[in-house]
Amino acid sequence: MSEEEILREAARIQSSRRKRVAKTCQRCGKDFIGVTQAKYCSDACRMAAARDVRARPASDPEHAYHIHLKPQLPGESIRDYWVRTFDRPLTEEDEEVIAAMERIQAIWDRIGHAVDDSTEMIRRMREERTDYLAKL
Ligand SMILES: [Zn+2]
Repeated sequence: MSEEEILREAARIQSSRRKRVAKTCQRCGKDFIGVTQAKYCSDACRMAAARDVRARPASDPEHAYHIHLKPQLPGESIRDYWVRTFDRPLTEEDEEVIAAMERIQAIWDRIGHAVDDSTEMIRRMREERTDYLAKL
């Protein structure tokens, strides 16, 4: 796989994330059309929800969960890692994201990047996942 093909794959994942679906606002309960990760119908609801999160005490276990990600075990697959660390069963969308991440990792493994690059890749995947969880 060439660098170009990897970039194409990344672009494909990006665009699949922009797919718009029917959603229910988690703040006001209104139905709306948004990207798959969208949680709120409007900026007003998104900001109101953010204010609620900030008002929450730092010791709130749900809040803490998003900050303290468990480390991936040596040799553990991305999917096993998600299964082990998620507090709910994986959805079809989770499975798609995992499958895409595993395809990209397989490509990186095949082209034999330096250890530093793999470490960087894993760090980025953790960030991606944190970002993804934050948008749920
Ligand atoms: Zn709303």
